[in-house]
Amino acid sequence: MNVFNSLTRSVEEFVPASAGNVGLYTCGPTVYNFAHIGNFRAYAFEDVLRRVIQFNGMKVKHVMNLTDVDDKTIRGANAAGVALTDFTRTYKNAFFEDLKKLNILPADVYPAATDHIPEMIDLVSKLIEKGVAYKSDDGSVYFNVRAFPGYGKLAHIDFDNQRTGARCAADEYDKENVGDFALWKAWEDSDGPVGWDSPWGRGRPGWHIECSAMSMKYLGETFDLHTGGIDNLFPHHENEIAQAEAATGKPFVRTWMHCAHLKVNGEKMSKSAGNFFTLRELLEKGFSGREIRYVLINAHYRQGLNFAFSALEDARKSLARIDACVEKLAALAGGASADSASAPFAAEALEGFTAAVNDDLNIPRALASLYDLVRMSNAALAKELAPAGAAAVLAAMKRMDEVLGVIFFGKAEKVDVPSEVSALLEERATARAAKNWTESDRLRDAIASLGWAVKDSREGQSVTKL
Ligand code: AMP
Ligand code: ZN
Repeated sequence: MNVFNSLTRSVEEFVPASAGNVGLYTCGPTVYNFAHIGNFRAYAFEDVLRRVIQFNGMKVKHVMNLTDVDDKTIRGANAAGVALTDFTRTYKNAFFEDLKKLNILPADVYPAATDHIPEMIDLVSKLIEKGVAYKSDDGSVYFNVRAFPGYGKLAHIDFDNQRTGARCAADEYDKENVGDFALWKAWEDSDGPVGWDSPWGRGRPGWHIECSAMSMKYLGETFDLHTGGIDNLFPHHENEIAQAEAATGKPFVRTWMHCAHLKVNGEKMSKSAGNFFTLRELLEKGFSGREIRYVLINAHYRQGLNFAFSALEDARKSLARIDACVEKLAALAGGASADSASAPFAAEALEGFTAAVNDDLNIPRALASLYDLVRMSNAALAKELAPAGAAAVLAAMKRMDEVLGVIFFGKAEKVDVPSEVSALLEERATARAAKNWTESDRLRDAIASLGWAVKDSREGQSVTKL
């Protein structure tokens, strides 16, 4: 398995430090709002990465942090006049629901920053002891970038052209403003009730120290893989390296990977630009989680992706083609066990697929192998394909879907049925079991009035959107 390492700026073979076991840290959401599909491009890329590692037979320990205290969450909570934890809880829960909709595998640990303040204070203390951090007059603590010789190695910063001795209190800034960054921020009026006691007085951690402290806690001082969107590379990841390596004297992360942005009309999709769609907005417009997932993964992760509704329409058509093929294959296969000799093209397609995903996660090429398989299966189905051959094709598709997570192997389209409709369906199942046909028909009408059509078959009821 080869991947592009942002640290060395080259494609390398990915080999974990401990054979077969991978430590993966992915920067998680800042829970001050609903995540937008630009954020989900990063999480979908990380999901595909994790699935490809697992596809190659390795185990993954996946840690994703929740940034529940920073400049933005504090501003949001105080503007809403609620406690920080109450404010962030809504968005944490929404985030987990959204991940499910996109069929993104859950991480093993979701550490929240506010649960790890002591670990952050320890790390800041260590950095002061090592002489790379200092307390400023207002009670904040800054990292002295000049005291860490490796500073700039990830972002390839040319120090000669940078300002020196400047300080930056904000969590986010660009390369023009490189300077000493805040590890601990002294309490100020705008923080309201948010703050923790520390050896330097009341305050709160900077955003960057959160990830260094939590990643090392769960994955050790050196671990295999750390990822995020490309905007995380500088300053966030650069600062994470500085904090961790200055404290431990060991290399922090072996491989760094970053995905390019999801854009709208050529501009990064972002909250601040206002050009974003939340996942919820797209679901409300009638697109399904898997259609959205398909669009997000169907571009190479290092290439910019322009969001367009036409791509969602195309995804619907592409998935329908796969569904139709799967349905025919399933009908033919019945309970037959797979015999690859009856469909040699399946193994060939799977080989192409495997080579593509192992070539720096080339999902567009991997999908091309899946479409080759669909085309060849349709041709074989039209001529003659043995049930064992159909089963072999289905097995190959299931293997591909371990990475893709978009194929539906049931008979009908998997839809996200609203809870109101599911409740009525349950009532209707009870009515039908009691042979109460009047009630059953009444419930059918009630479901129709919510915009869903019920179909009865031997397997039970199913619904489709009207
Ligand atoms: P944030 O909540 O802003 O810290 O972002 C969470 C994740 O989403 C990070 O990995 C960001 O790099 C990523 N991200 C934010 N905007 C975009 C975008 N338009 N395209 C891709 N990734 C993004
Ligand atoms: Zn982070």
